[in-house]
Amino acid sequence: MIPPFERLAIIGLGLIGSSIARAARKAGAAKTIVAIDRDATVRERVSALGLADEVTGNAAKGVAGADMIVLCVPVMANAAVGATIGPHLAPGAIVSDVGSVKGSVVRDVGPHMPGGVHFVPAHPVAGTEDSGPDAGFAELFVNRWSILTPPPDTAPAAIERTKAFWEAMGSNVEVMTPEHHDLVLAITSHVPHLIAYNIVGTAADMEAVTQGEVIKFSAGGFRDFTRIAASDPTMWRDVFLTNKDAVLEMLGRFNEDLAALQRAIRWGDGDALHALFTRTRAIRRGIIASGQETAAPNFGRKPEPLPETVEAKPQ
Ligand code: NAP
Repeated sequence: MIPPFERLAIIGLGLIGSSIARAARKAGAAKTIVAIDRDATVRERVSALGLADEVTGNAAKGVAGADMIVLCVPVMANAAVGATIGPHLAPGAIVSDVGSVKGSVVRDVGPHMPGGVHFVPAHPVAGTEDSGPDAGFAELFVNRWSILTPPPDTAPAAIERTKAFWEAMGSNVEVMTPEHHDLVLAITSHVPHLIAYNIVGTAADMEAVTQGEVIKFSAGGFRDFTRIAASDPTMWRDVFLTNKDAVLEMLGRFNEDLAALQRAIRWGDGDALHALFTRTRAIRRGIIASGQETAAPNFGRKPEPLPETVEAKPQ
C-alpha cells in the first residue's frame, strides 16, 4: 500500500471524474479530495453526494497545493484547462488525465506544465454510455486496464506513483507510447463506436422501415449497437477529431475487410463466412476468459418471466 496523496484535485466531475473521486476515497488513496467543475449544478450535486472534501469552480485555487491533479474533461478541453492550472501547480506535483486519445493530450497539455511538475497521462479503458456525477461508481476501474503514456523524460518515481494510484482503485496498468495507444484504441474502441453511430444513424434514416419497427425489433442485435451509440456526443466528437490519422488508417482496413465479406455473400462463399465467424467467436471467448466480460449469455440480461396465462397452462 502506497502512502496516500495529501491533496487529490479532480477537474471535471463527470462519469470518470466522479468514479475516481469515489474509488480514491474507498481506496484511501488521498487525504483530501478536491472536486473542480465549471458547472454550478454539477458542483451542487457533487456536494450533495459527498464525493469530495472541497468543491470549487475555481481551478487555480483548487489545484494549489495538490500533489496529484487528474484532468477528467473531454479531450479537446484539456489544452485550456492545462493553461489555466499551469501557473498554480506546486513543484513536485503529478498531473495526469483520463483522455481517450493520448497523442493530442501530450501535445496540448505538456507545454503548459512548469519545470518540476511531472506529467503522466493516463487512459482508464473503462466506461459506460452515461455521463455526469450521478453516473460514476467506485468499482468502474476494477479489473480494467489503465494505460499510462508518460513522455520519455518522465521521472520513474512519478510513473510508479501514478501506477500505484490506479492499482489502488483496482485497475491493471500498462505503460506504452501515446502513438501506440492511439493506434490500438482506434481499432478496439474508436472504430467500433463509429460503426455503432453509423448503423444507428442509418436505421434512423431508413424510409422503408418505420422508427417504431426499429425499436420494436431491436433485440435482433441492433439494441447492442444503440448502447454504444448513446455515448456522450462531446467526448466522441473530440476523440475522432484528435485521433484522426489512426482512425482513418483502421477504417481503411475495415472497409477492405467489409468489401471482402460483401464479395463472399455475393458469390455464395459460405466457407469464407463460416471461417470468419468461427475466428470471431474465439475472440469473444478469449475476452471472457481474460475476465474482461461476463460469461453469461446476452450480456447477462435476465429473461422476462413467462406471461401468467402461459405458466398456468396444464402440461
Ligand atoms: P462526462 O461525464 O461528460 O464529464 C465531462 C466533464 O468535463 C464534466 O464535468 C464537464 O463539465 C467537464 N467539461 C466539459 N467541457 C469542459 C471544458 N471545456 N472545460 C472544463 N470542463 C469541461 O465525460 P466522461 O465520460 O467522464 O469523460 C471525461 C474524459 O474521460 C474524456 O476525456 C473521455 O475521453 C475520457 N474517458 C471516457 C470514458 C467513457 O466511457 N465515458 C472512458 C475512458 C475515458 P460540465 O458539467 O460543465 O459539462
